[in-house]
Amino acid sequence: MRLGLVALRVAACYSDRMGEKLQPFPWNYCPICGAPLAPRWDEHQERPHCARCGRHFYSNPTPAACCFVVRGDEILLGQRAIEPRRGHWGLPGGYVEIGETPEQAALRELFEETGLRGNGAQLIGVSSQESELTGAVIVHGYFVKRWEGDPRPGSDVSALQFFAPDAVPRLAFRAHRELHAIFEALRRGDGALPTTTNTQPVPSITAPSI
Ligand SMILES: [Zn+2]
Repeated sequence: MRLGLVALRVAACYSDRMGEKLQPFPWNYCPICGAPLAPRWDEHQERPHCARCGRHFYSNPTPAACCFVVRGDEILLGQRAIEPRRGHWGLPGGYVEIGETPEQAALRELFEETGLRGNGAQLIGVSSQESELTGAVIVHGYFVKRWEGDPRPGSDVSALQFFAPDAVPRLAFRAHRELHAIFEALRRGDGALPTTTNTQPVPSITAPSI
């Protein structure tokens, strides 16, 4: 685990606007009693351990969710206003919070970032990748079945734009690119995804033809 902690500490990547390095939070101190943690074997490997509380602490991937909002054959992307990947285009989305499902997180983030109210989210895939902020993320990708409202940039994004399939820029995150590939495969598969207006219900998505 020592090596793992070192790896986390050196995983910093770039500077934010204050010139500070973004990096995951390593487990150095017990969040319960504040005592320094020390590596200790947990029957599988060494992990940070609090001798006072008698418990190990684990570094797990952080769950996240993102949305595919469709208008005709276009998808909605947001230009990131924050690090990581500030200025790059990505799918609306963010981290899942305690007390909500990934679907709820996807639609909450959609509203926060775009002002759009989504109704119904169909899981199309799950991807994972390393994360400068949390070490690793698991991203759930959802197709938003119905939505309403006029897109307006909200938290974390500086611009919103619908992109035609052949005009989609390189997305900010590898997980988003993987999910987008799944999305396009689904859309090509049998026409189950919508090419109509945003106010009409759409059929459930079938398995991708890949
Ligand atoms: Zn403790």
